[in-house]
Amino acid sequence: MARDGQITRDGGDGHHGADARAALMGSVRERARHFAQHEVAPHAGAWDRAEELPRAIVTRMGELGFLAGPLPTTHGGSGWDNETFLGVYEEIGRACSSTRGFLAVHTGLVSQCLEDHGTDAQKARWLPSLATGERIGCYGLTEEGAGSDVAAIATTARRDGDTWVVDGSKTWITNAGVADLALVFARTNPDATPRDDGRPARAELTAFVVELPSPGFTAEPLGVEPLGHRASDHAKLRLEGLRVPDDQRLGEVGQGFKIAMSALDHGRLGVAAGAVGIGRACLDEAVAHARERRQFGKRIGDFQMVQADLADMYAEVEAAAALVARAARAADTGAPDVTRLTSAAKLFATEAAQRAADKAVLLLGNRGYGSGHTVERHYRDIQGLRIYEGTNHIHRLIIGRSLVGKDG
Ligand SMILES: Cc1cc2nc3c(=O)[nH]c(=O)nc-3n(C[C@H](O)[C@H](O)[C@H](O)COP(=O)(O)OP(=O)(O)OC[C@H]3O[C@@H](n4cnc5c(N)ncnc54)[C@H](O)[C@@H]3O)c2cc1C
Repeated sequence: MARDGQITRDGGDGHHGADARAALMGSVRERARHFAQHEVAPHAGAWDRAEELPRAIVTRMGELGFLAGPLPTTHGGSGWDNETFLGVYEEIGRACSSTRGFLAVHTGLVSQCLEDHGTDAQKARWLPSLATGERIGCYGLTEEGAGSDVAAIATTARRDGDTWVVDGSKTWITNAGVADLALVFARTNPDATPRDDGRPARAELTAFVVELPSPGFTAEPLGVEPLGHRASDHAKLRLEGLRVPDDQRLGEVGQGFKIAMSALDHGRLGVAAGAVGIGRACLDEAVAHARERRQFGKRIGDFQMVQADLADMYAEVEAAAALVARAARAADTGAPDVTRLTSAAKLFATEAAQRAADKAVLLLGNRGYGSGHTVERHYRDIQGLRIYEGTNHIHRLIIGRSLVGKDG
């Protein structure tokens, strides 16, 4: 055991090797399931209506070791591998996508990115407080003009002695209004001359870590009502003369694009596992209803057309879970096809969950259509998973390009 009640990589119970790993995966998942069923699911609808995730739930995820799951124990982490951590994302995603989304951003996009690319001093400075939830992280990549096309980022960072001066804006940044630490991507060659053929110079992106509050950094309301993930905090960022010391630059100048993409590899696994959770939740609700609801003198689950829908949902959710686990193992072993597998997992799991949510709403009839029902919330939330961390079109592109390779 590391912190109070925290399960570490050796299982903390004397098991060794494969047995220890299986025991660890089982106990982490069990702990996540218990937390999700008892401390998240009963409140998820109310949080969605209140449009707020209580800070206490973040602290609780810190206590349970979830915020630090994949971080090494040296930085206050739990030292879990990706396949083990999937269980946490899936179980929490089954209960509440806003809570799971918080985790995927805070842990997958921010903490794991700092672990991968930070200096020892940076890791020691930020990771322990991110691991407990004392600090909350956000990831600022998207801009009005730069969604899928990350290289179109217009936010600039100009060097001024030992600091950088950042100007620009970001949008749809999860956790931004409650964050204590922001990972911000900016263009560090804004004045570069256009290429010979007249096209603008290739964007040189660099990543910065901003400690908040900071003068020049303002989180502003999004200005729209989100369809789903309503308990999440989403904000626009206004960056005006924001000064960031050079020792808060993450990685080398010009490495920002690579850093942003490597963070997304972590986050996408979390999204894919969260989608499996949504699929399972929709199947649970549909099966329970099919067993209970009677029409024409029978349980609706006795009609073969209803059984066919349930069977399709079951098969797709299980297939998605297997693919997500395969992608996680590829990440754990450093397999060369990890990016393609992760894209396939994110694409398939989110589309399968969308179909499951769609079927669940139909099978529940008017109950599934009413606000406040679990399947209605999942039906809204799943749309976000198809868009963020690379839209599903972009994942098809990643998979397709990787299969075909470069011409010549
Ligand atoms: C709930 C939620 C939370 C978010 N959280 C964050 C966050 O924390 N941090 C952050 O930085 N961003 C965040 N985002 C933003 C998200 O990452 C972007 O919305 C996403 O990358 C897509 O960009 P876009 O919306 O501008 O769509 P666009 O890129 O404008 O795409 C519009 C449509 O065109 C398609 N398209 C675009 N290019 C191609 C192409 N080459 N080939 C085929 N189709 C294409 C897309 O698939 C899409 O269907 C969040 C978004 C949502 C909805």
